[in-house]
Amino acid sequence: AAVFGAQAQQAFPSKDKTVTIVVPFAAGGPTDRVARDLAEAMRKPLGGVSVVIDNAAGAGSSIGTAKVARAAPDGYTLLLNHIAMATMPALYRKLPFNVPTDFEYLGIVNDVPMTLIGRPSLPANNYKELATWIEQNKGKINLGHAGLGAASHLCGLLYQNALKVEMTTVAYKGTAPAITDLIGGQIDLLCDQTTNTTSQIEAKKVKAYAVTTAKRLSTPSLKDLPTLAESGVKDFQVTIWHGLYAPKGTPAEVVARLNEALKAALKDPDFIRKQEGLGAVVASDQRVEPAEHKKFVQAEINKWGPIIKAAGTYAD
Ligand code: ASP
Repeated sequence: AAVFGAQAQQAFPSKDKTVTIVVPFAAGGPTDRVARDLAEAMRKPLGGVSVVIDNAAGAGSSIGTAKVARAAPDGYTLLLNHIAMATMPALYRKLPFNVPTDFEYLGIVNDVPMTLIGRPSLPANNYKELATWIEQNKGKINLGHAGLGAASHLCGLLYQNALKVEMTTVAYKGTAPAITDLIGGQIDLLCDQTTNTTSQIEAKKVKAYAVTTAKRLSTPSLKDLPTLAESGVKDFQVTIWHGLYAPKGTPAEVVARLNEALKAALKDPDFIRKQEGLGAVVASDQRVEPAEHKKFVQAEINKWGPIIKAAGTYAD
C-alpha cells in the first residue's frame, strides 16, 4: 500500500490533465472571486498543472455541489463552496447529496464578512435612514439573493426575521447578477460578501449600510460601516466561510496532495494580499486540516439548522 501510495502521489496531478474547481454560483460573484484567486495560488504548488473554473450555477449552489458529488473521485474535479454546505441541509426537503458523507474535505479557505447594500437610488444614506425607509415601505421591498441556502439568502432570512418584516425575495444564480440588478434599481436590497461588494462600494455604485460581523471591519473603504448588531438588530452576526471539497472516494494520497497545495496557497502572500483587500480573512487555523474542516462543517450544520427552522416564515 505504501508503494502504491507513493506512486499515486507522484502521478497526481498529471501534467496533461486539468484540475477543475466547480463554482456553484455565477461568474463574477464572490464565490467565483475566491475560486479564481485560489486557482491561481494552487497552480504552482500543484506542479504547474492548469486549474480552471467551471461555473455550475443555480438553486443556491445545490446544482454545482451535486455535480461534484457525482464526479469521478480522481482529484481533477473539486468544489469550492461556502456556508451553503451547512445551510442547504436545513433548507431543502431533498438534496441529491449528503454533505457529511459524499465529500472528501480538503480544508477551509477563508472567512468573509457580509455587507447590507442598497440600490443607488434608495433615499436612505445611512443605516438609521434605511431602518425608517423599511418601516415606511413594508410590503413593497425587494430583496435579492443567490437561491435557497446561499449566503445572501441566509443573511436576508436572518435580517427579515430580526426585523419581523417580510420582503419580496428575488432569487438569482449568484450575487453577480443580483448586484447588476441592484445597480439598475430592479431590486432594493442585497446582503452580499465583501469579496463582491467592496469594489462596488468604493466606486459608489451601491449604497452601503452595515456589516454583518460582530465587530466593524478594518478594510479602509468599509471601516466606517456600523455593524447590524450595534445598529439595533439584536445579536445579528453572520460570517461566510469557504471550503474546498473533492468527491467521496478520492484516494487518500490525492486528498493529502490537494490539502498540501491548498495550505501552500493559503500562505501565498499574493493570495493573502488580494483577499485582505476584499475584506476576507485567509484561514490559518486548524480548519485547514481535512478532519477539522469536516468537524467544523458538522458544527455549522448543527448551529444553522435550528436557526433556519426558527426563521422559517421568511425562508421562501
Ligand atoms: N456567495 C454568494 C451568495 O451566497 C453567491 C455567489 O457567490 O454568487 O450569496
